[in-house]
Formats: sequence, structure tokens, C-alpha cells
Amino acid sequence: MTKPDTDTQPCVECGKAFSLVRGPGRTQLICSAACRRTRKNRQKTEWRKRTECPPHQHGTVTGYTTYECDCDPCRQANTEYARRRRARSQS
Ligand SMILES: [Zn+2]
Ligand SMILES: [Zn+2]
Repeated sequence: MTKPDTDTQPCVECGKAFSLVRGPGRTQLICSAACRRTRKNRQKTEWRKRTECPPHQHGTVTGYTTYECDCDPCRQANTEYARRRRARSQS
């Protein structure tokens, strides 16, 4: 059984069948540069979503440091904490 050089397969992004051109060492999964860009952007947003902080109590230093929460209350708590710590070390 011989495999043809070109094959068609659905694009992982838009689902449209496209003719697969076998490159050296890697399989093409996406039909066009536009689809690749779309996919990359989506992956980026998905990645951002994943790294969003897990549920925690906002307005705490833990929220800011451990969960890397970037909300105003958490940031403020951290600022306050840093200020207190600085004040303590100065005395
Ligand atoms: Zn596509
Ligand atoms: Zn927060």
C-alpha cells in the first residue's frame, strides 16, 4: 500500500478539508496562515484563562502573592503589607 504525497484532511481550526502537503518532519494541521493566526490567538486567550487566579478571598496578600491575583483589593493588600513590613524593618 503506497501513500500518496498529498492527502486531504480537515483543518483543525476551520474544519475545512485542505490538501495536506507533507513537510519535512512535521504534519500540517492547519489549512492557511489565517487559520494558524486564529488558532494562535485562541490558544493565547485560553492560556490566559487557565492562568487566571483560582477562587480565593480577594483583598488579601495571599491572593496577590500565592494566587497572583491582579485585582485592586489584592494589589492594595499587598501594597499595604509591603508598607507595613518596611515600616517595621525601619524601626
Ligand atoms: Zn482552516
Ligand atoms: Zn483578588
